[in-house]
Amino acid sequence: MAVTEPAPAPPLAAHEGILRRQSLRESAARTYARSLPIVPVRARGLTIEGADGRRYLDCLSGAGTLALGHNHPVVLEAIKKVLDSGAPLHVLDLATPVKDAFVTELFSTLPRDFADNARVQFCGPAGTDAVEAAFKLVRAATGRSGLLAFTGAYHGMTAGALAASGGAEDVRVTRLPFPQDYRCPFGIGGEAGARTAAHWTENLLDDPKSGTPAPAGMILEPVQGEGGVNPAPDGWMRRMREITETRSIPLIADEVQTGVGRTGAFWAVGHSGIVPDVMVLSKAIGGSLPLAVIVYRSELDTWQPGAHAGTFRGNQLAMAAGTATLAYVRENGLAERAGVLGARMLASLRSLAADHPCVGDVRGRGLMIGVEIVDPEARPQGTGTEPPPDPVLAATVQQECLSRGLIVELGGRYSTVVRLLPPLTLTDEQATAVVDRLADALAAAERSPHRRLPTGSLR
Ligand code: PMP
Repeated sequence: MAVTEPAPAPPLAAHEGILRRQSLRESAARTYARSLPIVPVRARGLTIEGADGRRYLDCLSGAGTLALGHNHPVVLEAIKKVLDSGAPLHVLDLATPVKDAFVTELFSTLPRDFADNARVQFCGPAGTDAVEAAFKLVRAATGRSGLLAFTGAYHGMTAGALAASGGAEDVRVTRLPFPQDYRCPFGIGGEAGARTAAHWTENLLDDPKSGTPAPAGMILEPVQGEGGVNPAPDGWMRRMREITETRSIPLIADEVQTGVGRTGAFWAVGHSGIVPDVMVLSKAIGGSLPLAVIVYRSELDTWQPGAHAGTFRGNQLAMAAGTATLAYVRENGLAERAGVLGARMLASLRSLAADHPCVGDVRGRGLMIGVEIVDPEARPQGTGTEPPPDPVLAATVQQECLSRGLIVELGGRYSTVVRLLPPLTLTDEQATAVVDRLADALAAAERSPHRRLPTGSLR
């Protein structure tokens, strides 16, 4: 009897092979690659072209890095200029004309009364390196070791490097409530919620029996990014400044994601007008390439030579790309533009929410926007009054966005906040296209029969 041979599997397209090899060879910890199985081969501005020939509107922007979008001409020009000049690309932390120009441009964008009396430390290439440096700095300057941080905060992924090098005692972090309207930890939201959050912080610091170790510093994000796009109210920011100042606690503003115009001010601390003691800067300051620094009040500069070192702190291409980016954002008023366009997008998304009960909340500042996806039919859980977050539906929305050529990230405690971080160069037409595609994706996701997770299974 003749045995029918199984039909040979069709050959994989080149991009499918790349994706397959990636999943076989790269770590199980890979993140974006799981939900965004695309193989970018070309990019310009808001648009990425995949190896499969498809085009995508990129509202992830390298996790908020690309203030000017992909391959902006001024960035490419700055990089080419360094390459053509024959300047060394690797210089540790030596002085160079490229670095000199970067520091001059950076300082010109910072709050005047801060920049006039500030020092900059070039850290390792990632934001998390600069966060570690900020902690070390304030601990050296104050002689204290505790840290104050907020619920929902995200500051990076390093933990062990310093400890394993014998350079850090155990850091004890006290978590304080971050004010938020939606899912307010006190169940009240608004001004009253923010006032209560500030009161809690003050009380904890003054109560000798609160168990809070003497803090070397307080670190906060003016708009929490990974935590689900939670903008801090300006009044609360000013209270945090007063509370820390009167107790001689250095205030560290983590502007890794909010900086360089993203929120509608060049630096997001500008909204409240506060002047922090330390600013942590990365992402957009390198104009697409890795660069991270801390800038701080010179009185805190009690470090000994070599107290904070690292090999890759002199990336000349990143400094040149960063200088070009900072100057372009400043000269073209892109922070103000982000404020205006962001407000318009928030308004459109809020009116969309009326037709989509799965949209629990729309929030943001400038071009840092979040849309929280909930299960409108489920009863609120625990102490909350809002419908519970719906991670499965949020993941479906993300996939429906992708199939419509729109790249978005998910963030927040339950990965249920659809995050938009488009470049600041976004045009009005592009903004409309982004909102339209998201609206279509929401409608499609709502129609799809998605599996509901059992209560209590949220991570
Ligand atoms: N701080 C904030 C506010 C961030 O958003 C991030 C990254 N998303 C970091 C620090 C860490 O930066 P990196 O991933 O470059 O280490």
